[in-house]
Amino acid sequence: PKVLVVVAVSGCGLLAYAEANPERKLVSSAPVLTSAEVDNKKKKVVVLGTGWAGTSFLRNLKNPDYEVHVISPRNYFAFTPLLPSVTCGTVEARSIVEPIRNIARKKTVDVQFSEAACLKIDAVNQKIYCRSNVENNLNGQEEFVVDYDYLIVAVGANVNTFNTPGVVENCHFLKEVEDAQKIRRTVIDCFERASLPAVSDEEKKRILHFAIVGGGPTGVEFAAALHDFVNEDLVKLYPRVKDLVKITLLEAGDHILNMFDKRITAFAEEKFQRDGINVKTGSMVVKVTEKEIFTKELKNGGEVSTIPYGMALWSTGVGTRPFIKDFMSQVGQANRRVLATDEWLRVEGCDKVYAIGDCATINQRKVMEDIAAIFRKADKDNSGTLTVEEYKAVINDICERYPQVQVYLKSKQMKNMVDLLKETPDVSKGSAELNIEDFKTALSNVDSQMKNLPATGQVAAQQGVYLAKCFNRMEDCEKNPEGPLRFRGEGRHRFRPFRYKHLGQFAPLGGEQTAAQLPGDWVSIGHSSQWLWYSVYTSKQVSWRNRALVVTDWVRRFIWGRDSSRI
Ligand code: FAD
Repeated sequence: PKVLVVVAVSGCGLLAYAEANPERKLVSSAPVLTSAEVDNKKKKVVVLGTGWAGTSFLRNLKNPDYEVHVISPRNYFAFTPLLPSVTCGTVEARSIVEPIRNIARKKTVDVQFSEAACLKIDAVNQKIYCRSNVENNLNGQEEFVVDYDYLIVAVGANVNTFNTPGVVENCHFLKEVEDAQKIRRTVIDCFERASLPAVSDEEKKRILHFAIVGGGPTGVEFAAALHDFVNEDLVKLYPRVKDLVKITLLEAGDHILNMFDKRITAFAEEKFQRDGINVKTGSMVVKVTEKEIFTKELKNGGEVSTIPYGMALWSTGVGTRPFIKDFMSQVGQANRRVLATDEWLRVEGCDKVYAIGDCATINQRKVMEDIAAIFRKADKDNSGTLTVEEYKAVINDICERYPQVQVYLKSKQMKNMVDLLKETPDVSKGSAELNIEDFKTALSNVDSQMKNLPATGQVAAQQGVYLAKCFNRMEDCEKNPEGPLRFRGEGRHRFRPFRYKHLGQFAPLGGEQTAAQLPGDWVSIGHSSQWLWYSVYTSKQVSWRNRALVVTDWVRRFIWGRDSSRI
């Protein structure tokens, strides 16, 4: 029998401890639940994580021949795109979470859930070591070992602080529901503290200075949400300090939202300027203390300046969890930044383990080799050159087969790729021919620019669906190995590789205006996109209960405004 194991990780204290101590010796007397003991007919699938990837896998798994064990320190799924709305009370935390047991109970598949964090993966013996969540009744003391036939690692990523001193101690993060609730309380705290009679004007100004580090979608959306909260609700409640509030967005690059179309970036920067949100680009944070942020002004020859602040949010991208790093060194990936999988989402060097979502990436090197092979195939006369028509067909083929490139084609970065390819000697000379060596050089330039699939819920959810479909048909394919599903002659796998379908992305900018970048490079900005945003995010909720709660919260906010009680 086969067992599928899914592991999920939360941002709880235990996890932080476990992650800080990946080498900690785990109790050898911990009970081992063998799959044979549970059911010797079914294969055991262990799923680590109840985020976008793990939950979407679970929701789409239909084959009752598996016994599934989901392990995660958080016993719910959270709809992360609405976390910025939770920070300001536009939406309540409970409206965007769904208990994982509620999802599991509706399944025909045998699903068990354990609220615990995985501390170590032993890929050789097909076991994972876990510890119960520190916040539950077991007080974090209970350790156990689970064996698996298949392991699905969907543990997401942690915050990347780039080892900047003082960030962990002094900044807020926005990854988990608890983070959003903490931010909401801190914002209110700042207004209450600034309203105390004994506080000097200088200190009031500092307390009411909200600094956001990172001009990506999360930082921008939080800045916009906070601006709305302050201007629509808090100014009425705190009239004495309303003129002292300042919101600053710090970004090391030249522009905010630089992964979006230039039109969106320009609109966002202009709108923030109009709204009085101070956007400082070329500003790299080098240190954070309790009351000050130190930045290196890249446009000013690296001059260091200090910014007094009351609350700071750190939102600069994602990093790898320590126990995943430990696993990477076990499977010969110690020198990689992120866990690499093949295009079938199997961890390279580890057949029974799959990795999906933010914790993994499809290996680019292999993709590049395959792309070169596409070129060679197109070069029918073996001349080492392609005509422009053949060249176009190659680019189309590449975009069709490789989601990473496809994402780039749909965004402004693909234009960089096309530019780079155009810069290759033959093409720039207008000779209408492209030499394979030039093509490869151009591709390697592209490779250094071409990042992995974006770390988004959209990618994670599609990977979960893809993998569940593979598992639904796995038995069938084993019985009929030569069946029509074989994609490649070399027999690397029985299924077609994962393909990402980009459905577009939103950047809410406040004041009931949203920027939407939709497939086909279609850009829409303004109030109509805000309504599109409302309808897409309502439909994407995982249950009717969530839909009803979220819509009710929006209506409540329209009628009575946001609640500013500090609870
Ligand atoms: P996660 O959703 O982070 O889930 C990881 C799971 O692993 C969690 O359940 C966690 O508890 C569990 N886990 C952690 N450690 C362990 C462990 N040791 N053992 C077991 N389990 C563990 N994406 C979009 O597409 N659109 C958006 O609009 C969007 N907005 C966002 C807004 C914010 C504020 C944030 C923070 C993210 C947003 N994203 C958005 C990105 C999206 O949330 C992530 O890409 C997505 O959550 C990744 O899914 P995942 O399943 O890989 O990881």
